[in-house]
Amino acid sequence: MLRTIDQAGDLRGKRVILRVDFNVPLNQGQISDDGRIRAALPTIKLLLEAGAKLVIASHLGRPEGRDDGFSLSPVAARLSELLETKVAFVSETVGELVSQAVASLSDGQALILENLRFNSGEASKDANAREAFARELAALGDVLVSDGFGVSHRKQASVYELAKILPSFAGLLIQAELNILQTLTENPDRPYTVVLGGSKVSDKLGVIQNLLPKVDRLLIGGGMLFTFLASQGLKVGKSLLEADQLDRVGGFFDEAARLGVEIVLPTDVVVANRFAADAEYEVVRSSAIEESRFGSEAIGLDIGPAAAEHFAAMIRSSRTVFWNGPMGVFEFDNFANGTKVVAEALSLVEGISVVGGGDSAAAVRKLGFSENAYSHISTGGGASLEFLEGKSLPGLEVLND
Ligand code: ADP
Ligand code: MG
Repeated sequence: MLRTIDQAGDLRGKRVILRVDFNVPLNQGQISDDGRIRAALPTIKLLLEAGAKLVIASHLGRPEGRDDGFSLSPVAARLSELLETKVAFVSETVGELVSQAVASLSDGQALILENLRFNSGEASKDANAREAFARELAALGDVLVSDGFGVSHRKQASVYELAKILPSFAGLLIQAELNILQTLTENPDRPYTVVLGGSKVSDKLGVIQNLLPKVDRLLIGGGMLFTFLASQGLKVGKSLLEADQLDRVGGFFDEAARLGVEIVLPTDVVVANRFAADAEYEVVRSSAIEESRFGSEAIGLDIGPAAAEHFAAMIRSSRTVFWNGPMGVFEFDNFANGTKVVAEALSLVEGISVVGGGDSAAAVRKLGFSENAYSHISTGGGASLEFLEGKSLPGLEVLND
């Protein structure tokens, strides 16, 4: 059983380390999507109201050592705004300066440490190095509340080793994420539709493998679509193609037929002459990509309008929908239609609608859909996929009795 925050006892006056996932996208020092910060607020508020001395810790990006471009300082500022109370920022991860700052916290006050990845121990491949860093972190707290769902699939010092040293409990976000993902794997209302897109087919093979026996239909879009089309013998021009996965992908069609599951490929696609926001483009049948005016140079950048409508109808007639991966290169306006139509259809589902994946979640917000229109927008791309693949997540395992 998962140890949860409500089992942590009286936290008044206790030093609580809260590991969150504040790995937000930054654009020239500005946070372009604060979804992950907002998702941590319920746990933060709960701990502050309980009178804890709160030490918030996160990583951001993949800096190798100290790198000011990845400082958590803008995150501290944004968090202070959202909480409407000052969260002090400490420019180190461990050590004397941090100990002093923690010692000066009052009950119900919070500070946030600098990016954990500035310390090479955090993500080291060497378990001893991770453990050494975890011991330094442990000296700062009495209890660990682990709530960084987006990093729970990683064996990192603050996620894994630290949880073995301090009494450790799952926060509210991890609990919410697990609840919804369990519904998707254990007892979904039917029809159950999974929509997959995004760029890399190889990232998603495990999920397809594990979900195929559980779903009623699997809709395929995004860059991975072209490996699916090619596995059926179609020509895809210069579209994304993972040639080494053709056999495996082809095998899914046999498997689906055996299970009575429908794999739905788009009947039309939008192809362009190059990968650019202002590329020339044209809608063609999926079976006629190289008959477009771009010939064998055609690059598929979105599902077509007919496919988008067909996908939307299948989504809206479902009781449970999980969507991961944009349907096209939504970052370019001309190729955002498929993603937009699918995002809207999900927002109208009467039943459970879950968006997983960093880019998919960002797409929903960028396209202006209200987060409240979905049952759940997962903060963990890799973590939610690994959970749905049936893998065990080390950062959650370690919170189990
Ligand atoms: P998520 O983060 O939601 O799991 P992915 O990281 O797998 O999604 O994929 C997101 C990326 O896939 C987006 O940046 C998008 O531009 C890209 N993408 C979608 N369709 C295509 C396509 N047809 N060709 C190339 N890239 C694509
Ligand atoms: Mg992504």
